[in-house]
Amino acid sequence: DEQFQARQRLERNLCQIDNKILVMSGKGGVGKSTTALNLALALAKEGKAVGLLDVDLHGPSLPTMLGMADQRPHATEEGIIPLEFQGLRVMSIGFLLEQSDQAMIMRGPMKHGAIQQFLADVVWGPLDVLVIDCPPGTGDEPLSAAQLLGRGADTVIVTTPQDVALVDVEKSISFSRQLNINILGIIENMAGFVCPHCEEVTDLFGRGGGEKLADKTQVPFLGRIPLDPRMVVAGDSGKPFILDHPDTEAAKALQHVAQTA
Ligand code: ADP
Repeated sequence: DEQFQARQRLERNLCQIDNKILVMSGKGGVGKSTTALNLALALAKEGKAVGLLDVDLHGPSLPTMLGMADQRPHATEEGIIPLEFQGLRVMSIGFLLEQSDQAMIMRGPMKHGAIQQFLADVVWGPLDVLVIDCPPGTGDEPLSAAQLLGRGADTVIVTTPQDVALVDVEKSISFSRQLNINILGIIENMAGFVCPHCEEVTDLFGRGGGEKLADKTQVPFLGRIPLDPRMVVAGDSGKPFILDHPDTEAAKALQHVAQTA
């Protein structure tokens, strides 16, 4: 029947993808999508075949971050062909909406179906890594993604330094543990602001929280990405930060994470 066939397409797709990394965060606005995109590009720079899937069904930001909001993937007999960006294979619900400001109204089971389609009916081809940008929190989307991926999925948790005082990040950790997903580690984003004039570092959101939490929860600490105003411009302009500013501290930190993760 139909469910069985969908399941088979899913299996066939997933067995061609060596690593699946779910990028999660306890809450919104910590730079999770930015990190997912730049991490995917950093992995591609390491010579890997990389796909990037945005399963943030309510607030897909990938099309804007890539400057591809008006592009649409096309469907073939084999499935939906992902769009291509600098060697990355990319897919987002944002590419399928008629207008980018259209709201997506979906309940849990519909979301599950949509994510299943993204994993089963997109022609990802052989990949070393599929990076999956989840919406913040531990709701339907990461749960569906984790269930569909089954064993062999990993998570990376993005936080800002001050966040870690909150229980949000610990929820992402306990989510991963309950689902038996391997946690690759915690990335501390917006860690320290380097003054563009005098190079002095100001720890706007505190310091070391990510490392402390990693220590406390026995999760690897993957690195700190400093706050860089050029990151905001990059996110809005369709020119990803790591490609445009490869020599910055932030880009080097991301590249380092790609090498360790
Ligand atoms: P999330 O996915 O967690 O909601 P986003 O990736 O959309 O967060 O980032 C939120 C905003 O913060 C965006 O405008 C983005 O450009 C900016 N941003 C993310 N990381 C950094 C950073 N390290 N330095 C400066 N701005 C950043």
